[in-house]
Amino acid sequence: MPRISLKERISERVFLLDGAMGTQLIARGVQVGKCNDYLNVESPDVVSDIHRSYFEVGSDAVLTNTFGANRYALGRHGFAKETIKINKAGAQIARRAAGENKYVLGDIGPSGDFLEPLGSLKPEELKDAFAAQARALLDGGVDGFIIETMTALDEVTIAVEAVKSIGGVVPVLASMSFDRAGVDFKTMMGVDVEAAVAKILSLGVDAVGFNCGTLSLNEYVELAERFVSSVKTLEQGTIIFAEPNAGKPELVEDQAVYKVSPEDFAAAVEKIHSAGVNIIGGCCGTSPAHIKTLAIKLRG
Ligand SMILES: [Zn+2]
Repeated sequence: MPRISLKERISERVFLLDGAMGTQLIARGVQVGKCNDYLNVESPDVVSDIHRSYFEVGSDAVLTNTFGANRYALGRHGFAKETIKINKAGAQIARRAAGENKYVLGDIGPSGDFLEPLGSLKPEELKDAFAAQARALLDGGVDGFIIETMTALDEVTIAVEAVKSIGGVVPVLASMSFDRAGVDFKTMMGVDVEAAVAKILSLGVDAVGFNCGTLSLNEYVELAERFVSSVKTLEQGTIIFAEPNAGKPELVEDQAVYKVSPEDFAAAVEKIHSAGVNIIGGCCGTSPAHIKTLAIKLRG
């Protein structure tokens, strides 16, 4: 584990996360629709290679390849029983790639279902599923957790509570995904920035942020400014993080394709950083080239 704790490190200066995992797997020939998380068990070298490619260009931390590794999302691929194995392996692969001086964030994504009464999920069962995932990630050696791409306040709440319930003292970052909604930004479940920030901060996280979504680069900059002013009215000094996509996807032969260049991405993210966002990475469509250009721009 790194000598400076993740908690200290993220409060110091700009902290660079990695870029996309999914689109990098596809670029390495992994079929669309396959269970990406199971690759931690089946083809660890492919996953490891992607982690290394991000560390090489300047990422301070990578996210484990466990975005869909809760028992509900894995169940859709028939791998629910492998939950512990997949998460532990994912953490170990990233830990090995990170070595002594870089960091690993255990990635926790949404269940893909809704809580009752909208869907069939029971709060206690969902909490249990996220806690089991988090425990396996911690066992595998993560330095902290990132709960991301959330759209519902009840689910993000349960995820944060679950991760905190396992008793670790490692940092927890939590983010939601926003789309344009008139002059506003809202998640798919209708949550606006102010409500998201207020709820997530009330849970006692170490950083609050946004990732993914369907926004243009200019809209991500605007969203960052909204986040900063929203956080300022509640808790001055809170760390904010952002993982924008490489712009808006275009549909090419039924596949989402991201065409924003590393230069344009880095220029927009520099504005996001200047607005007051300290932890930065990329979501869908971003590659090591995007992170490399960003690292040079932010660190000079
Ligand atoms: Zn994304």
